[in-house]
Amino acid sequence: MPGIDLHTHSIVSDGQHRPAELVDLAAKAGLSAMALTDHDTMEGLEEALEAGRTHNIEVIPGCELAVVDGRRQLHILALWLRSPALTLQKALTALRASRHERNRIIVEKLRQNGVNIEYDEVLSRAQGAVGRPHIAQILLERGVVRTSDEAFKKYLGRQGRAFAAKQELSMDAALALLKAEGATVMLAHPYLLGENGKAMEELVRRYHDMGVDGLEAYYTEHSTLRTNEYLQIARKLEMQVSGGSDFHGKFKPQIQLGIGRGKLHVPEKVLDDLKEYRRGKGLWV
Ligand code: AMP
Ligand code: ZN
Ligand code: FE
Ligand code: FE
Repeated sequence: MPGIDLHTHSIVSDGQHRPAELVDLAAKAGLSAMALTDHDTMEGLEEALEAGRTHNIEVIPGCELAVVDGRRQLHILALWLRSPALTLQKALTALRASRHERNRIIVEKLRQNGVNIEYDEVLSRAQGAVGRPHIAQILLERGVVRTSDEAFKKYLGRQGRAFAAKQELSMDAALALLKAEGATVMLAHPYLLGENGKAMEELVRRYHDMGVDGLEAYYTEHSTLRTNEYLQIARKLEMQVSGGSDFHGKFKPQIQLGIGRGKLHVPEKVLDDLKEYRRGKGLWV
């Protein structure tokens, strides 16, 4: 049974592969559809869509955004995003610009902690939205840390010595921008919300009320039990479901396209249902 992967990253953010290469890999892995969801940019979408036509695999154009909701920080996936209006383009440009300011602060804090890297070196590793994984990669190659995870724990993560925040849109602002584009918006890797049971259900309900369409029930880090819990919440709240690996190539080497850590399988029905939902709203698929 072929599967799909609706959460992937390419070199235009913190993935390893060119968008076209990624689409080729997805086709070779036997997937029937994939979404390209780079952080803060739609730069890779045209290339991916074109490659999808060549490799005969359905490509859904999307992106991933980090948003804030009060004290909470979370990621959302926008699917079926194309020909962005100027307002969205400007918002994404501002987010990418703020990454540069943030990264310079990180490099300075690293220096204060005895780790000397140049920002130009960071830039040379990135071809789009520059992120902490690019910095982690340098620390890894320098032998400053042994794993990317250690880089985040010690330096780059929220509790790390060199942490600096980047600008993020509010959930409301992001939803207003994305819904105006006719995108379908999902809560990415919902396990990171850190809620369970009734509390999780109430939180998801709140986001649904704000305009979120569904949640990424199938995800690399979700056990079958967790996936089923999220499927149940989605059913109860009449919300949509998506699924993906969050493939980043060498930037998250333990994660494979389509199958995550080996056990992930996102059924084709997930995409069929999402398309049915969009058609019902008169949106393109
Ligand atoms: P940034 O977009 O620069 O804020 O970096 C956030 C990205 O770093 C996330 O989207 C993940 O892809 C990655 N990331 C976050 N935490 C970790 C971790 N502990 N280990 C490896 N990668 C991580
Ligand atoms: Zn990423
Ligand atoms: Fe994410
Ligand atoms: Fe992601």
